[in-house]
Amino acid sequence: MDSLKFSPELQENSPNTINPLNLEEFRRQGHIMIDFIADYYQDIEKYPVLSNVEPGYLRKCLPDSAPHCPEQIETILQDVQKHIIPGITHWQSPNHFAYLPAGISTAGFLGEMLISGFNIVGFSWVASPAATELESIVMDWLGQMLKLPSSFLFSGNGGGVIQATTCEAILCTIVAARDQMLSKIGREKIGKLVVYASDQTHSSLEKATKIAGIHPENFRSIKTTESTSFALSPEALKMAISKDIEDGLIPLFLCATIGTTGINAVDPLGPLCNIAKEHGIWVHVDAAQAGSACICPEFRHFLNGIECVDSFSLNAHKWLFTNLDCCCLWLINPSALTKSLTTSPEYLSNKASESKKVVDYKDWQISLSRRFRAIKLWLVLRSYGVANLRNFQRSHVTMAKSFEALVRGDKRFEVVVPRNFAMVCFRMVPSAFGAGVELDSANKLNQKLMELVNASGKVYMTHSMIGEIFVIRCAIGVTLTEEKHAIRAWKVVQETANTILQM
Ligand SMILES: *Cc1c(COP(=O)(O)O)cnc(C)c1O
Repeated sequence: MDSLKFSPELQENSPNTINPLNLEEFRRQGHIMIDFIADYYQDIEKYPVLSNVEPGYLRKCLPDSAPHCPEQIETILQDVQKHIIPGITHWQSPNHFAYLPAGISTAGFLGEMLISGFNIVGFSWVASPAATELESIVMDWLGQMLKLPSSFLFSGNGGGVIQATTCEAILCTIVAARDQMLSKIGREKIGKLVVYASDQTHSSLEKATKIAGIHPENFRSIKTTESTSFALSPEALKMAISKDIEDGLIPLFLCATIGTTGINAVDPLGPLCNIAKEHGIWVHVDAAQAGSACICPEFRHFLNGIECVDSFSLNAHKWLFTNLDCCCLWLINPSALTKSLTTSPEYLSNKASESKKVVDYKDWQISLSRRFRAIKLWLVLRSYGVANLRNFQRSHVTMAKSFEALVRGDKRFEVVVPRNFAMVCFRMVPSAFGAGVELDSANKLNQKLMELVNASGKVYMTHSMIGEIFVIRCAIGVTLTEEKHAIRAWKVVQETANTILQM
């Protein structure tokens, strides 16, 4: 019974004494973990892409409380295999075509290991000079790769920061725009500020608008139509702005998107900026996924007009082979951001910050603590080089073209919107289901088609609505996806369509 008693110093008795950072154990367990992950990838196609567990399944598998005594990594990994993997939707499966890809790479993994390995908290320059300086350098590198105007680079008095997500980047940006405007017109006018975007814009803008204290009724989600391929029409923006001004409101912010989440529509930056800038509106460009492809000269034209915007962001963790998370945000006037977000508590004061010669990234983001994400992006850029990164993206676009050709080759199907990058939006046409089938029933049948495709476990795709039309999205961009997977995915869709038509 002795072992159950506390010692006088409240020392817990444990069957074996454990050092939380034993380097020999770190080496041994590290190898086991790498092997486990490599095996997972080797076997990834054996699992159903979309997890088919029932809600609450995991509570039935695991104990009610944390263990009192240590457990071996081998035992824990057995439980990962047995209980966790069945509840995973395999985002890295080459047969995952849902949502948007979360592209990864060996360099991305290794970069994450270095981030965790150092585990520094570089909120200010002095708290880890290399973390801050490397971040500024890689943001300039990536900015050059995208041929951003020099006004977005540190070398041109702009600058970039790596945040976790686009949601955070947009929130920070909108707060900077809000405070810049309110400092001119008076804080009491906050209820008059208006935010503009198209109805295809990602929900992160609406969330950011709410958090920033903009009146919910002053969020303009401008309807898009087929005539502009679901891009925001400058004419419609102009009308919305004119009406708001007539009503005594104050236009504040426009979010334009390059590659909307639903259907990869591209808003025309140049013409939109011409209108926005007449009214002193802050223009942000959300290029979360498709922006990465603009490192390829053949896609760069989608960024034409970028020289007139105030801020620009993309997620390197979507289509730049950088493991989660890595959102890159550039601004031509970072001081608008830091004016809003700077705090200077005594416990963080230091000579370098006072000299104003350094970047303190805590003033460019919401949180204080921050991960050393720059080193991960640096590893990715160096390990592959710009040439290979472009070729990886081009191979995804080629696969999307093949998938698109297959859809077009089957008279029962149609491609519903023009393909801009590596996403194909398609559906079965109403007449394929029988004479006189209306839009509503066609939508339901297409949804059923998608659900049956996903239930097969062979492929996972998600949907979007284009106006009243239900479309299935095939979003290509997972690192392991090859041509054969895209072709097989189409076969699964076709076979499932045959089954539905026989029902
Ligand atoms: C994915 C996506 C987002 C959201 O990104 P988070 O990093 O998850 O916040 C925003 N906008 C667009 C266009 C996206 O594709």
